[in-house]
Amino acid sequence: MHREEPMNKRPVIVVGAGPVGLIAALALRHYGVPATVLEAQSYGRVRPGSRAIFIHRATLQSLEEISPGLGLELAGEGLVWPIKRTFVRGQEVYAKTYPAPQPGRLPPFTSLPQVRIERYLYQACLSSGVEFVWSCAVQELSAQQDGVRLVTASQEVWDADYVIGADGAHSAVRHGVGISMEGTRSPNTFIVVDVAEDVDHPLPLARVFHYEHPAVGGRNVLFVPFAGGWRVDLQLLPGDDVEQYSGTDGVRAWLPLVMDEAYAERVTWVSTYQFLQVVAQSFVDPFRRVLLVGEAAHLFAPFGARGLNSGVADAVSAASAVTKALRAEDSSQIEHFSEERHQAALYNRDAAGIALEHIQGTSDGMRVKRYIGSILAPVWNDVGRWLDEGPYGPRSGPSQTTKY
Ligand SMILES: Cc1cc2nc3c(=O)[nH]c(=O)nc-3n(C[C@H](O)[C@H](O)[C@H](O)COP(=O)(O)OP(=O)(O)OC[C@H]3O[C@@H](n4cnc5c(N)ncnc54)[C@H](O)[C@@H]3O)c2cc1C
Repeated sequence: MHREEPMNKRPVIVVGAGPVGLIAALALRHYGVPATVLEAQSYGRVRPGSRAIFIHRATLQSLEEISPGLGLELAGEGLVWPIKRTFVRGQEVYAKTYPAPQPGRLPPFTSLPQVRIERYLYQACLSSGVEFVWSCAVQELSAQQDGVRLVTASQEVWDADYVIGADGAHSAVRHGVGISMEGTRSPNTFIVVDVAEDVDHPLPLARVFHYEHPAVGGRNVLFVPFAGGWRVDLQLLPGDDVEQYSGTDGVRAWLPLVMDEAYAERVTWVSTYQFLQVVAQSFVDPFRRVLLVGEAAHLFAPFGARGLNSGVADAVSAASAVTKALRAEDSSQIEHFSEERHQAALYNRDAAGIALEHIQGTSDGMRVKRYIGSILAPVWNDVGRWLDEGPYGPRSGPSQTTKY
C-alpha cells in the first residue's frame, strides 16, 4: 500500500535560529542536504546585546569553507585592534602590537557584535535555500530507532530523520532526550556593558585589561573594542551589591571613573552575569538521532571567547556527521561527532575555568603568583605575557592544544 509522506517530514530539522543553528543549517546546505530551521521567536525579533564579539581566525576559516566569502565578509565588517595592553593596579606590565591585517586574507580575529554576525549568517542561509519556520517553539521530542518526532507549542507535529538541537541554554531538545548538564557557576558577578563609539571623538583602539583598577576599588576591568563600540566588563568583588553597579544609575556612577565620561551617556546594553561552566553529559541521544550543539550542549565563561567559536565547530561537525549518516545509513559518524565535540567542550570548559580562576584570584596560590608576576613583569617579558594571557586561558592557535 502506498503511504503518503507526512507534510511536516524533513530529513534534518535544526531547532533554534541563533548563530549556531544558522551555521548548522548553512553547513547542511553546503553538504547538499535540505535544511529546515524551527525557531520559537517571531520573524524580525530583537536579539539580546552584550554577547559574542570576538571571532577567531579558525572560525572565520570554517565559515569561509561552508559559505565562500562569508568569513572574509565578517572580517571586513569587524575590526582588529592594533595593540593589547595589560595593567596591574594602574601600572602597565605588558603591551603587544599586531601587524595590520592584509587585504583579502583572514585576520587572526575579528571583533563585531553578535547581532551583526547573525544578520550575515541569516542572509547567507536565505541565499543557500534554508527553510525557516518562525514562531514555532518545540515543546516535546521523542527519538526512536528510525527518526525523531517533534511537537510544537501550537501542537503541530514535525518528523525528521535527524534533529540538530541548537536551541540555547534552556534547550527543550536537550530536556526532551533527558540529557543533563554537569559543571559549576562562577561565584563572582560580572557587569557587562556595551557603549556606542563616539565617532567624532574615537578612543584609541586597544584591548586593555586592568587587574585591580585603582579607580574602582581594585576591581578588574576589561575593555574590548568592536566595530561600532566598546565592551566594558567590570568584575565585582564578593559581597558587592550587584544592583548598585548594574542599573543605569549604577553604570553611570562607575563608568566615568575608568573611561571618558561622555561614554556614560552612550550605553547601549547592560547585562549581569555569574557565568556557568557546564557541559552536557552526552551530545547525542541513545538512538543517535538527536545531536546537541552550541549552548544547548555547553556554557562557558566568555573569557577566551570559546562559546560561539566552539558552537561553530559543533555545528559544522554535526552537519557533516548527519550528512554522512543519511548517505550511508550508519551512525558511526554521529558517534564520532559526539565523542569529539564532548571532549572539546570539556577542554574548553576547563580552559575557561583556568581563565576565571586567574581573573578572580580566588585561591591564595593564584593571588601570590599574580602579585609576584606584577613585580617581575616590567623586567621579564614572559611574566608580563603570562599576566596578559591569563584571562583567556591556555593559548590558541594551530600549534597549541586549544580546541574550539
Ligand atoms: C557576555 C558574553 C560575551 C560573549 N562573548 C563571546 C565571544 O566574544 N566569542 C564567543 O565565541 N562567544 C561569546 N559568548 C557566547 C555566545 O554568545 C554564545 O555561545 C552563543 O550565543 C550561543 O549561540 P546558540 O545559537 O547556541 O544559542 P542562542 O544564541 O541562545 O540561540 C538559541 C536560539 O534557539 C531559540 N529557541 C530556544 N528554545 C527554542 C525552542 N524550544 N524551539 C525553537 N527555538 C528555540 C532561541 O529563540 C534562539 O533563537 C559570549 C556570551 C556572553 C554572555
